[in-house]
Amino acid sequence: MIHKVQNLIAGERRPSSDGAVLERHDPADSRRLVSTMPESTSTDVADAVTAARDAAPEWAAMPPSRRASLLEKAASVLADQADDIAVEIVQEMGKPIGAARMEAGRAPKNLELYAAEAVRLTGATYPSDDSGATVYSTREPVGVVGVITPWNFPLNLASRKIGPALAAGNTVVFKPSPMTPRVGERLGAAFHEAGFPPGVVNTIHGHSAGAALVADQRVDAVTFTGSTATGQRIHAAMGLDRRVQLELGGNNPVVVLADADLDAAADVVARSSFTMSGQACTAAGRVLVATEIFDELLERVVARAEAHQLGDGRTEGVTMGPLVDERSLIDVSRSVSDAVAAGASVATGGRRVTDNGLEHGWFMPPTIVVDVDPTMALVHDEVFGPVVGFERVDGLEHAIALANDNRYGLTSAICTRDIAAAHEFSRRIEAGTVRVNRPTVGAAFNAPFGGIKMSGTGTHREQLGPTVMDFYTSLRTVFLGG
Ligand code: NAD
Repeated sequence: MIHKVQNLIAGERRPSSDGAVLERHDPADSRRLVSTMPESTSTDVADAVTAARDAAPEWAAMPPSRRASLLEKAASVLADQADDIAVEIVQEMGKPIGAARMEAGRAPKNLELYAAEAVRLTGATYPSDDSGATVYSTREPVGVVGVITPWNFPLNLASRKIGPALAAGNTVVFKPSPMTPRVGERLGAAFHEAGFPPGVVNTIHGHSAGAALVADQRVDAVTFTGSTATGQRIHAAMGLDRRVQLELGGNNPVVVLADADLDAAADVVARSSFTMSGQACTAAGRVLVATEIFDELLERVVARAEAHQLGDGRTEGVTMGPLVDERSLIDVSRSVSDAVAAGASVATGGRRVTDNGLEHGWFMPPTIVVDVDPTMALVHDEVFGPVVGFERVDGLEHAIALANDNRYGLTSAICTRDIAAAHEFSRRIEAGTVRVNRPTVGAAFNAPFGGIKMSGTGTHREQLGPTVMDFYTSLRTVFLGG
């Protein structure tokens, strides 16, 4: 059934003020209309920001334990709906149902985690040369936080931004991706259903609402996850007086040294490159393999690639869903054909799959490209699909040099049995995360996550760790004299 998504502003479900509607079709079968959503106008966005501003004083003044218990209630609303949400995730963005269930289960846990932060926020006292004064710091909410998120983890990423924002006493305007409006609506509505005061969490949908939200100077902070191109636009628009957190794209390397356990390394590479059809910011686009083991590793990864079962993510046995839309399929296919035109060759995959009833979906098979070089987009840029370039390296130094010769710095991995080499790599690789004998994908929900270079602002890590709440609070220093 087609679901009509609406904005949620000041506790009211509303269509776009000019009635404009966008459609979302199932990427596994683009004939199926899954949901419609408002294409919000700048008036709708302004109304949502006004609602968030109006709600801010009462929310900030609410006892923290009460804020925490409301967040716990929102977590339990989401947990109760997790089975339905998982199916909606598959229908809107295509990941296999097992991965969608994991995500639907993770979001309530995020909210529970951040609920506890509401009562843990602390300041500090400082020794003072002024014996009559006490010097201490407090944390204040930042104000209205704009939350703008992508479609690939539509629930998880948004919940780990909205959760800490609310715990710290901020109000929120949430702008989900137009690829996943139903899932965005579910998350926004969970706070409403849990009894949050109207206006504390507002949800606005559409293609142009994100830019309008960023442009509204009454938004005090923006936390964004998405592409580097959009992140750069947001960064430029925010200015000095408003804070911004950006979690952006990557082209993550896996290094495989000659001493690696080859079967384990092949698992690491295949999982890094092909999980979620390569549509994870942490997916590996480059594999830097010691020349001595290049052919043996390639053969093993090709076998793993070819074992994937493509199809609708709701079908039993399917391990790889479609790409998110036709545009993405075109871009990903072009990255392969351009590389081939420039001298690379395809070891497996490389072309859209249309047989076995997949002709109406945006299916790209796991694809391995060899004989690549740094002039090719799939080596130097992010390709958001199941495409990986294999390069030969003659040892650790060469691998580190090639891996770092890239504008991104999100995550990385090395496969080796040599502890010293792993440690050296961890010290020198330019990335926010290093995985040793583990895939680049995935993140611990209780460890800091974020990138450097063009992969993000890097100043405030998401998930957990000392900096998470720093983004959502302003530190104030008080000198209290007698
Ligand atoms: P995107 O940048 O196209 O869109 C992200 C969000 O920004 C959407 O809600 C979109 O509507 C909104 N938006 C678009 N233009 C905007 C503007 N000018 N101002 C404000 N908002 C605007 O990204 P996407 O295609 O949804 O997601 C895929 C990208 O996200 C990939 O590059 C991926 O690497 C990245 N990503 C990064 C992380 C991370 O943690 N680093 C995690 C997941 C995805």
